[in-house]
Amino acid sequence: MFLKGKTALITGSTSGIGLGYARALAAEGANVMINGLGDQAEIEANVADLVTISNAGALYSSADMTKPDEIRAMVADCTAQFGSPDILINNAGIQHVAPVDEFPDDKWDAILAIILSSAFHTTKAALPGMKTKGWGRVINTGSMHSLVASPYKSAYNAAKHGLAGFTKTIALEVATQGITVNCICPGYVWTSLVENQIPDTMKARGLTRDQVINDVLLANQPQKQFVQVEQLAALAVFLCRDEASAMTGANLSVDGGWTAQ
Ligand code: NAD
Repeated sequence: MFLKGKTALITGSTSGIGLGYARALAAEGANVMINGLGDQAEIEANVADLVTISNAGALYSSADMTKPDEIRAMVADCTAQFGSPDILINNAGIQHVAPVDEFPDDKWDAILAIILSSAFHTTKAALPGMKTKGWGRVINTGSMHSLVASPYKSAYNAAKHGLAGFTKTIALEVATQGITVNCICPGYVWTSLVENQIPDTMKARGLTRDQVINDVLLANQPQKQFVQVEQLAALAVFLCRDEASAMTGANLSVDGGWTAQ
């Protein structure tokens, strides 16, 4: 329980990878504030579960990651309840798949806001507390699409490449202050985000569901299996350890070999 007394704020953590991070950090004793959309009863059950896991605090913020005022209020609320976040994980994300000349303007704006701009607003609000304590961990969820591209995902690839650059920049800014900033770059992980993009990909490429899974999603994933949420969560926990204090500004691939090609 090496995170006892520490507080983690995780955006986009009502499901999938973010909830996996929350559970893994709670298992090390951290207070956690989760955030995201979803069914209220399910969210409340997840919060109760986190308290059981950590024997510490757990709270939920409904802040919309497209709204800077709500993001600032979320960080302030976390600070008021638990103290300023020691660990910030920028994980919220959405996807939309379409050729760029048909890409809806509102989807472009939402993807850039939720994946990239929200990380700016959370980091700006949370860093002063980390600087005061002389310790902090910022972990961004990038993607193999932070490093390489696939067609029909212009907004997502632009936002995730942006997050990779943001990670490096902030790592340099706080390099001497006990704060590390890294980006975990998963390959395909079986979560609702992947499940939800299958129908659009079927439409955009004229493929069946099985063809999308095997010939598109896993086609370039050399291990031919999905990354597991628990594998990403274990890396996030390691990044919080003292042994990881020299790791900063890194875009860390956990992608079954995708970006080795
Ligand atoms: P997911 O859909 O389970 O999780 C996305 C989270 O973001 C949810 O909690 C959702 O409620 C939240 N969210 C969406 N819009 C929001 C908003 N406006 N405000 C606040 N929260 C919002 O999917 P996931 O796969 O767990 O995705 C988590 C992160 O991992 C994303 O950044 C995604 O891009 C990244 N990622 C996923 C994969 C994959 O294959 N699943 C691969 C690489 C990277």
